[in-house]
Amino acid sequence: MAARSGVLASGAIIKQNELEILLSGLSGFQKPRPELEQWSTPGDVAAKMVLLAIGDVEGKIVCDLGAGTGILSAACALAGAERVLSVEADSGACETMRRNFKSLGISGEIHNCDVSDFCEPADTVLMNPPFGAQRAARHLDRVFLAKAFSLAPVVYSLHLAGTRNFIRGFSESVGFRDSVLGTFRFPLPASFEFHKKPRKTVEVDYHRIWR
Ligand code: SAH
Repeated sequence: MAARSGVLASGAIIKQNELEILLSGLSGFQKPRPELEQWSTPGDVAAKMVLLAIGDVEGKIVCDLGAGTGILSAACALAGAERVLSVEADSGACETMRRNFKSLGISGEIHNCDVSDFCEPADTVLMNPPFGAQRAARHLDRVFLAKAFSLAPVVYSLHLAGTRNFIRGFSESVGFRDSVLGTFRFPLPASFEFHKKPRKTVEVDYHRIWR
């Protein structure tokens, strides 16, 4: 995927490797909870995601649903978002997120609640939601997408490559258009169960969905 830098309206340039270094130093989940599909986006992927979305991030109100320990929220703040709204159900993850923001000297607005209870509109949603693949988290991917569509006209989101057609159909059924900006190969934590053979890596599509 091509994003190497983002040119901010201020004229400053944020380089991918600078973002990666800052993001890779952040703390992840202390004790990941598989039923919430807790698993952090790697720093290099988070940097690429935000730079590919720079026109919808810089100077915008960006919402990160299922923000975890805040790596995508932090990436948006570092890339010049005007406000970042971070929504996360797990209070332990919110604590880590608070510390991560402090360590970078950035301000974020942390909402410790279920995504279903969050209703503040935004310009853009940028998220790595649960894949909805684990038994206890079944269909959470569509709960997150439906919430994102109700909050913002532009949504950037990661989904298992195997669900590409489903995500397109789901988006189009509510009047959104969908394009896949690229595909990442991710290491998966051992705590994730899959029905077929155990997987160590997984292919994940990066979607831009808009109306
Ligand atoms: N976005 C983060 C974390 C991804 S893991 C990152 O990219 O690193 C998915 C996150 O969604 C977890 O932190 C999990 O606790 C959170 N989550 C799962 N169900 C949720 C719900 N119903 N409401 C809010 N957050 C939820």
